Amino acid sequence: MRYSSSRGQYPPVSAAEAIKMGLAPDGGLFVPDQIPVLSSADWELMTSQNYQERAGHILGLFLEEFTADEIRDCVEGAYNSTNFDDSRIAPTAELGRQVFVLELWHGPTCAFKDMALQLLPRLLVASARKTGEQSEIVILVATSGDTGKAALEGFKDVPGVKIIVFYPQDGVSEVQKRQMISQFGNNVYVAAVSGNFDDAQNGVKQIFSDRSFIDSLAQHGMKMSSANSINWGRLLPQIVYYLSAYADLVGAKRLIAGDKVNVVVPTGNFGNILAAFYAGQMGMPINRLIFASNANNVLTEFIRTGRYDRKRSFVKTISPSMDILISSNLERLLFELTGHDALKVRAWMEELRDSGCYQVDMETARKLDQYFWADFASDDETHMTIRKIWQEEGYLLDTHTAVGFDVYDKYVLATGDQTPTIIASTASPYKFGRSVAEAILPMELLEGQDEFSVLEVLAEFTNIPVPAAIKGLDQRPILHATVTSKEGMQATVAKFLEL
Ligand SMILES: *Cc1c(COP(=O)(O)O)cnc(C)c1O
Repeated sequence: MRYSSSRGQYPPVSAAEAIKMGLAPDGGLFVPDQIPVLSSADWELMTSQNYQERAGHILGLFLEEFTADEIRDCVEGAYNSTNFDDSRIAPTAELGRQVFVLELWHGPTCAFKDMALQLLPRLLVASARKTGEQSEIVILVATSGDTGKAALEGFKDVPGVKIIVFYPQDGVSEVQKRQMISQFGNNVYVAAVSGNFDDAQNGVKQIFSDRSFIDSLAQHGMKMSSANSINWGRLLPQIVYYLSAYADLVGAKRLIAGDKVNVVVPTGNFGNILAAFYAGQMGMPINRLIFASNANNVLTEFIRTGRYDRKRSFVKTISPSMDILISSNLERLLFELTGHDALKVRAWMEELRDSGCYQVDMETARKLDQYFWADFASDDETHMTIRKIWQEEGYLLDTHTAVGFDVYDKYVLATGDQTPTIIASTASPYKFGRSVAEAILPMELLEGQDEFSVLEVLAEFTNIPVPAAIKGLDQRPILHATVTSKEGMQATVAKFLEL
């Protein structure tokens, strides 16, 4: 199977090359030339497989040049009981009314990014080996919180790789910061940037495009790469859990093979919901993909109207991992919906770059409407949803998953649709514990409590234990204390790498 650039100005490459390169050199995203469709024998087999076996099977369909042993090593290194606190890896919980919560946060950082970032480093190393890469790979990440820690956990102690994470000094939560600065590993580096997330991200982009810096890395036998969600190797692991959830529900006789389901995804950068779209292309019977955003709802408007306009202001919400205005993975969806029309996609992306907006053609807008339904939730609605689901179902949602529940309610109200529904749950409630606690606890209990003691109060009240990955974080030794200005980021990289 070959992978083509969505901008059509670079020749197709193998899976290993696509994963090693991340972004195509013409600025496009790599997309597989055909999507494999699962046979009824595949589905039957999957019903009796465990998560690792399903992942191995599905990955094998996309990664033709990888041997079954290589894939098994990657999968078992990623999804095991050292990294995940539930042996089912991505279990579903049923909340009445045929609503199934797909819990994607049992990994080492308690958010769904672990599902991809535990596997990507292993795929990357295997891809580098396969393509004869001699250089050491340096992963540079700018993070607004969740990605940085998940990437550190995924890449720590991986041979042939070094990882450097920059986070905005005052732009991440205390839990997120503590998670990063206490990171173990002989190849990990973390630095705070005095500035906001945009400063950190722009700094990383500048380093990536600095020719003389790239040359000096090459002289030291090193090469930069990225772990962000444009990499096919990050999207692919996410397709697995949707197919796996469906197989689980059929296996548990909650669905009959062939029954349609809706899938609700709280969305930021469009990666997770795009994976659900691909699961549908592979034959998972999906009725509607329900797209949930917070007040940063540029994509809600896009799904409804086919017009993308990024000229709007950024809102800080209680679901910060979805506070995104520019969604890179949308380009892959446009490529798919236009039947791989790179000319069209390129024209829209150029319009976006030059004027900050574009309008897709009627046919594409019609397809958007056919596959997706979109709405958004305010912070107040998110709080109310957490309280309601806790009181009615005894199930505790994090702030991102609650956005998904709120939008699902709006969908049912608007359409009356009773199709069974899978809601992707993207983080443990403890990852965003203060907002969750504020939604369900009396204010007096929270007064004067810091971010860590709030978690203990929440655990006592709900009887749901604090995950081991977060418990006692404030007691762990600080291993990374570097702070850099925006201008000093490149020098910081040079110092870490001893150039
Ligand atoms: C990253 C993230 C999201 C958004 O996922 P996308 O793939 O960017 O749409 C949602 N919830 C949580 C908790 C996240 O960390």
